[in-house]
Amino acid sequence: MPNPKQKNNNSSKKKKIKFQTVRGMRDILPEEQIYWNKIRKAVDRVAVDYNYGRIDTPIVEPTNLFERTTGKETDVVKKEMYKFETQSGKKVSLRPEGTPSIVRAYIEHGMRTKPSPIKLFYIGPMFRHDRPQKGRYREFFQFGFEAIGEQDPILDAQIIQTALRIFSSIGISKTALQVNSIGCQECRPNYDNLLVSYLKNRKQALCMDCKDRLKKNPLRILDCKEEKCTQVVTQAPQAVDHLCPDCKKHFIYLLECLDELKITYSINPHLVRGLDYYTKTVFEIWSKDDEEGRVALGGGGRYDYLVEKLGGKKTPGVGFAAGMDRIVEEMKERGIKGAKTSQPKVFLAQLGDLAKMKSLSIFQGLEKAGITVAESFGRGNLKTQLKKANQLKVDLVLIMGQRESLDETVIIKDMTGGNQEVVTLGKVVIEVKKKLKKIKKEVRVK
Ligand SMILES: [Zn+2]
Ligand SMILES: [Zn+2]
Repeated sequence: MPNPKQKNNNSSKKKKIKFQTVRGMRDILPEEQIYWNKIRKAVDRVAVDYNYGRIDTPIVEPTNLFERTTGKETDVVKKEMYKFETQSGKKVSLRPEGTPSIVRAYIEHGMRTKPSPIKLFYIGPMFRHDRPQKGRYREFFQFGFEAIGEQDPILDAQIIQTALRIFSSIGISKTALQVNSIGCQECRPNYDNLLVSYLKNRKQALCMDCKDRLKKNPLRILDCKEEKCTQVVTQAPQAVDHLCPDCKKHFIYLLECLDELKITYSINPHLVRGLDYYTKTVFEIWSKDDEEGRVALGGGGRYDYLVEKLGGKKTPGVGFAAGMDRIVEEMKERGIKGAKTSQPKVFLAQLGDLAKMKSLSIFQGLEKAGITVAESFGRGNLKTQLKKANQLKVDLVLIMGQRESLDETVIIKDMTGGNQEVVTLGKVVIEVKKKLKKIKKEVRVK
């Protein structure tokens, strides 16, 4: 038998551990939620207007889903994925982005048989083991819209319109749109060859990563942020000059649609997006007054081979995603307010144990009647409670003291006019409703 005394000694020696969030991750506290709510509301509303249905996919997916789509050689998959093996030896990853999961779901649920395009939107956390820096987290949040099954460039224009609509309804109306076309399976190989032969002659001037990219992913060199690489690519051949007739037609039609919608844009020949599956249209939306080195608010493009790559029938698609963490930061910088929260109109104050207990059911009755009530059940002192009621600028204060709790009554104090009245417990809800209605009327007359 263990000696109880000894056991006690052991546990008292245990070190106190201070728990903290894992590096690159953080809590989003209640006072921050107003910003997030505003974004979520805007996304929901625009999704209804543009006929997108919400989809939630798992956070954990097979690792090769992303290797196959996002690309084995991309930074996202090669360096930044949270990969692990399950107890049964399955290789899985925390999703680093949304599109591959949506396309997997599209195939898995046979959405092809439904009328095209299938329009889906998502909102949720993504994970990348990137170097944490200002506004960039390892767990970050994105919303995204995908339209699958239509190749018409009008869908590209509409997806851009949808993105801009969300930003403007959040309050971010001044943005800068950049567009580019990176071609298709027909014209991209030719362009890649041209690019590689141009860059090979200047290989010594490239950074280490780009030297490596020359063999595996030359297009990515175009958006390398290293100064020496940006120097090299200024004179590089541009994809838009080497598009096949189909890609060219597609791009021109998109630009005409944007003109029609009066959406201003600039063509950025070095915009390629960091993922393997894009074809034809790629775009990014930036904050208008952006400093160098910051991340775009959102971006996207067309992915006409992605469904096929995951084993489905050849089906075109187009989509975009935006970073919510980045948007929250932008809202704060621009002084954009968060979503409105419903302000309590009534404060419930109590004094004494019996009153405290009875207050619980008064609270419940008012709450059921749709009246938001503030209280501070923990505090005994009436003065402090009334002080809090004043700070909250409520219209009515309900007071139940020791005497009222014995009498089964409540004092209703009108904070706008100052008069007060005693009512029986059974009539509290009706009286409160009546008084609030009257106050609302008076405010309107004023
Ligand atoms: Zn092409
Ligand atoms: Zn480089």
